[in-house]
Amino acid sequence: AKATGRNTYQIFTPEMSKAATERLQVETDLRQAIENNEFIVFYQPIINAQTGECIAAEALIRWLHPEKGMIPPIRFIPIAESTGLILPLGRWILNEVCRQNHEWRENGQPMIPIGVNFSALQFRQNDVLDTIQEALERFDLPAQYLQVELTESLVMQDVEKTTQILHDLSRLGVMSAIDDFGTGYSSLAYLKRFPIRKIKIDRSFIRDLTHDPDDQILVKAMIDLARNMHLHVVAEGVEDEQQLQVLRSMGCHEIQGYLISRPVPAKEFQQFLGNLSTA
Ligand code: C2E
Ligand code: CA
Ligand code: CA
Ligand code: CA
Repeated sequence: AKATGRNTYQIFTPEMSKAATERLQVETDLRQAIENNEFIVFYQPIINAQTGECIAAEALIRWLHPEKGMIPPIRFIPIAESTGLILPLGRWILNEVCRQNHEWRENGQPMIPIGVNFSALQFRQNDVLDTIQEALERFDLPAQYLQVELTESLVMQDVEKTTQILHDLSRLGVMSAIDDFGTGYSSLAYLKRFPIRKIKIDRSFIRDLTHDPDDQILVKAMIDLARNMHLHVVAEGVEDEQQLQVLRSMGCHEIQGYLISRPVPAKEFQQFLGNLSTA
């Protein structure tokens, strides 16, 4: 019998919480979705805080469910991770981003680096480097146009292994960024040990930045720390002009957030690039 039939679950339903049932449903749907190619990559611009120029983008996955419509990553990425489905999915995302960047180049668009989020399971695979190298080669993409985003908690999980992979990536020419900076358990010492080039300040620090003196102190400290260590610093979740002004005055290099643009499909993002090239 097919595992997609509702009857299959009814046997378990009395013992299972609603959440667990839903989880199983998502897992079943996910397997199908990977086969059916129901995913789409959105792109969110990242701008230079001083010039306003679009200098990078972040790739963010969306699931276009045939019945449920657009499903945000928070609803399926954790399940993809716990089931291992993130491996085929992550590989697809990586290849799709490289393919898209290649296509933009073919269309004569200015090239920018695109950040791809990696889950812990994906990053810890022995063949992660080969996977990345193959994707770059397949689309003839110089390594500097791919960036790897890793959360603070991920990199702290296994410092030895992380250091080694980051060094390999760096040798390959792929830049790494620490995502959600400031939210996880962390030791400042690792910033010195890891060959990372960029930190992304989590949006929880940016949200109340204009009003909250504590957030101002923390964000200023993070920016100063990054700058003193010659790291690029990006502020995430910038939603209004005042936040941008504060961050600019603090010396933040790059800005990402709804103020600039929400994540958009590749076609829309291309117009973004097109506008810039004629600016
Ligand atoms: P993240 O890596 O921290 O991505 C940034 C999230 O903040 C995105 O949510 C983005 O849409 C949202 N965001 C950007 N600017 C603003 C803003 O100004 N205000 C607010 N409120 N939100 C903003 P999204 O796309 O829903 O992704 C959520 C998380 O899902 C990501 O957090 C990342 O952890 C994960 N994710 C997304 N795409 C992928 C992927 O391709 N692979 C993996 N492994 N994880 C992914
Ligand atoms: Ca990210
Ligand atoms: Ca983030
Ligand atoms: Ca996040």
